[in-house]
Amino acid sequence: MNRLDALRGTTPPKPHDARAIAALAANPGCARRALLDGAGIDKDATARHLGFPAPFGQSPFAITRGNAFEALVKADGCAELLRMLREVLELPVAEVAYHDVENVGAHLRHTHTRALIDRAARDEHDSGTIYDHPLLGLEIAGHTAYLEPDVVAFQLGGRFHIVEIKSFAVIDGQADPAAVAAAARQAAVYVLALRRMLRELGHDPLRVAHDVVLVCPENFANRPVATLVDVRRQLAVLERQLSRMTGLDRLVEGLPEELTFDLLPGEDGLPTRPAAELADALRRTTARYAPDCLSTCDLCFFCRDEARQEGACDLLGRQVRDELGGVASAEEALGLADGSRAPAEGQEEIARLLRTAERLRRECLA
Ligand code: SF4
Repeated sequence: MNRLDALRGTTPPKPHDARAIAALAANPGCARRALLDGAGIDKDATARHLGFPAPFGQSPFAITRGNAFEALVKADGCAELLRMLREVLELPVAEVAYHDVENVGAHLRHTHTRALIDRAARDEHDSGTIYDHPLLGLEIAGHTAYLEPDVVAFQLGGRFHIVEIKSFAVIDGQADPAAVAAAARQAAVYVLALRRMLRELGHDPLRVAHDVVLVCPENFANRPVATLVDVRRQLAVLERQLSRMTGLDRLVEGLPEELTFDLLPGEDGLPTRPAAELADALRRTTARYAPDCLSTCDLCFFCRDEARQEGACDLLGRQVRDELGGVASAEEALGLADGSRAPAEGQEEIARLLRTAERLRRECLA
């Protein structure tokens, strides 16, 4: 058993989905998350057992609405989608072939997707092709995660675009920035998976565009509207995080030999491990809490509670944390600001800035 398997223990591994992989890019500096995801640990079950369940998951109403919108976009062999692709990509798409990969048995879908993509990449004709429900694979810490996106890959002239269909509304040309950012991170996972598939097949991976087509309902009506979203930044973060996960050995090396996050499931599948013991085990890994965790990671309430107890600057957000580089807690920052605490080596500059800020604050209040 390798060390990652030992960290998970007897709890069955949790397969990664695109949402989980996308969330890796949301907090690339967190060793705790990298370890838990690398070991395939069910963070949701862990958080529940610790008494810190996170309220993730869509309501049944939102799921129904999302399914209805997706069906509308894909109706009649993706006719509506094709109209939008012509507009947004400014391409003279005369006609397209439509392949619904879902019609193939589940175990064959990945092989079938590869064969279709390979054929399209070799095709010298300028014909378009839409692939519905392709099954993509991405290697995460030595395991292949299969991604079943509600997504369409569109190919024209040997260039591929990922199309992501989301049910959040675009109102007067504006959408919720957090929802767009999450969709961009998720689409970046598909771009990366498709690029790796092309590379394995001997084609240029850059034939998959970094501009993804995001399709959303417009102005509360169900009329779909498409926008191009550049996901290069999300791709860079994701690749960095995945390469870091394949190098998890370094993170594991620093952990105590006996450390495990095993939930010790009983015969009924429910955890039997004392929650306090599990919490202690988790605290031996380094977390990098940020308020963004609240929308991306199942352990968010546990890590927020830990950061609160430590009075960590992390609670104030990434920008403040980065600006206070080298100052771990709010108490330390306040001590440096009012001069009651002497700066440690390397803290002289931040201490000088904090004292200036404190002096200005006092002058303003006076
Ligand atoms: S919630 Fe905790 S484990 Fe998850 S990314 Fe944030 S700090 Fe890391």
